[in-house]
Amino acid sequence: MSAAIRANTERKALTGWGRTAPTVAEVLSTPDIDRIARAVAESGDRGVIARGLGRSYGDPAQNAGGLVIDMTALDRIHSVDADSGTVVVDAGVSLDTLMRAALPFGLWIPVLPGTRQVTIGGAIGADIHGKAHHVVGSFGNHVLSMDLLTADGRVRTLTPEGAESELFWATVGGMGLTGIVLRATLRLEQVETAYFVVDTEQIDNLDELMERQSTDDEKYAESVSWFDAVTTGPHFGRGLLTRANHAKLEDLPKKLRANPLKFDAPQLLTVPNVFPPGLLNRFTGRVFSELWYRKSPTKLGAVQNITQFLHPLDIIGEWNRGYGPHGFLQYQFVVPLERADVIRSALAAMTERGQVSALNVLKRFGEGNQAPLSFPKPGWTLCVDIPVGRGLTELCAELDTMVLDAGGRHYLAKESRASPEAIQQGYPRLDEWRKIRNAYDPDGVFASDMARRLNL
Ligand SMILES: Cc1cc2nc3c(=O)[nH]c(=O)nc-3n(C[C@H](O)[C@H](O)[C@H](O)COP(=O)(O)OP(=O)(O)OC[C@H]3O[C@@H](n4cnc5c(N)ncnc54)[C@H](O)[C@@H]3O)c2cc1C
Repeated sequence: MSAAIRANTERKALTGWGRTAPTVAEVLSTPDIDRIARAVAESGDRGVIARGLGRSYGDPAQNAGGLVIDMTALDRIHSVDADSGTVVVDAGVSLDTLMRAALPFGLWIPVLPGTRQVTIGGAIGADIHGKAHHVVGSFGNHVLSMDLLTADGRVRTLTPEGAESELFWATVGGMGLTGIVLRATLRLEQVETAYFVVDTEQIDNLDELMERQSTDDEKYAESVSWFDAVTTGPHFGRGLLTRANHAKLEDLPKKLRANPLKFDAPQLLTVPNVFPPGLLNRFTGRVFSELWYRKSPTKLGAVQNITQFLHPLDIIGEWNRGYGPHGFLQYQFVVPLERADVIRSALAAMTERGQVSALNVLKRFGEGNQAPLSFPKPGWTLCVDIPVGRGLTELCAELDTMVLDAGGRHYLAKESRASPEAIQQGYPRLDEWRKIRNAYDPDGVFASDMARRLNL
């Protein structure tokens, strides 16, 4: 890395949201595209990677000993066109900011993950999905064009079907390794209100929960379930199935109709960095699971706001600190629909090994898109959060075998410990992606801890 670049960077230890595996890099934060391009050109042997809001759980937005470009400084919303439903935004704009700007025009971001604290660049880089995947697909499906700074210093405007569309799709889900997204044009959805009409069903075992979730999903724009991963016996895998449609104006109670597009999402508290290891254990996990299960009895047709339905965790800042200093691991996989049995076996393996996860999310994906490294494909996806501690490595190895044998795969945005072989097996188009990446970046300018760890 050149001295000129180094003069403008700050040396920082970075982790992902899981707070494991910190590494130190020079971090450049600037809204100046020419400076970003110069930094890429002079990044040196260890290369460079873009970083958004660091909400990936593992190490894809870290680059030990190299350069990291903090993209959050590039944060302008250039235009919102209510008639065509399109927006032009810088890559460092967060979904939260975009939502606040677009909602007053009756525009909705069709793909929203479990937090709005994600940048447009991170959303493209991981090709994120939300609870609406079975209807709208993943984030890349809604990108009309993007400006990508590539290793040769050029800024290419890419579209899903135009010239160099292979680079567009290699960037969608490409974890920042094809270049730096600077700006994107997105297609949003038109909505009448910022509310949902939500059906919640409390279901007292896993088989029934999955059976219900397999029925009528197409009637809902959003669908997801949370289940209890602590209780065993007849209530094994009991859970809450929540499904919703966007509320129309006439669905709202009178007092909300005056301002139907109002979006008010306060952050009520920030978790201090003082939690000891072992706070989430069998006992506290059981208490949490009981409270969570009981908090939402079956209720159909409830009107809920965005935070209540989509992002309850965004009310609490830095909630990842609650797992203590060793951090935690999020394990998310997808298996084909016909291998629903893996969900049950995975949950059984967790409870038998005494590993406690409180945030357990289950969803049915619809069709995937054409990006070689996009995670979603038709099937069941399960996501669990487990504090780092004894026995976790063995559990993960057992889960890996189940997932891969069933033709499933891991989600790179959540992944932090899989082997290169597991990723190669789960992503059969990885070599096709490598070929495209190598054509545009033959010298490996774009590099990250994840890329080195997984031999991407
Ligand atoms: C509480 C929580 C809930 C979540 N729920 C979901 C969910 O429901 N569905 C889902 O899909 N994901 C979910 N995620 C994961 C999150 O959406 C992804 O990890 C997303 O990529 C994070 O975006 P970021 O801006 O923080 O990017 P980072 O984590 O900083 O980076 C992610 C990747 O994107 C690349 N990248 C970032 N900016 C750019 C850029 N400008 N150009 C090129 N590449 C770039 C990075 O190099 C890196 O490889 C969740 C995360 C959290 C913490």
